[in-house]
Amino acid sequence: MVSTGTPVVIRVQVDPIACDAYGYCAELLPERVTLDEWGYPIVDGSPLSAELVGLATRAANACPRRAVLLHQVPAGPTGGRRPPAAVAPAGVTVREMAP
Ligand code: SF4
Repeated sequence: MVSTGTPVVIRVQVDPIACDAYGYCAELLPERVTLDEWGYPIVDGSPLSAELVGLATRAANACPRRAVLLHQVPAGPTGGRRPPAAVAPAGVTVREMAP
């Protein structure tokens, strides 16, 4: 990844189609993920602190369905609500999601 000097934030997201409600993400990242009554994740997409990026990376790597996604988006007033591209920290596979 090449730095452009633009401030960025990292957000966590779950692909609801891929998710099979194993619940590891909520165990590993309770600061951002809780489970609904059926065991599916409810995600707080607020920007992650540096400490939480590490935990989110662990959660993404632990998800058996590879459904936990990390998005690096430009920081700003909108906070990149609609990320143009997904970029992950080292060791995490990111898939593009349909708009
Ligand atoms: S660990 Fe993956 S499959 Fe399990 S609830 Fe979280 S996102 Fe879904």
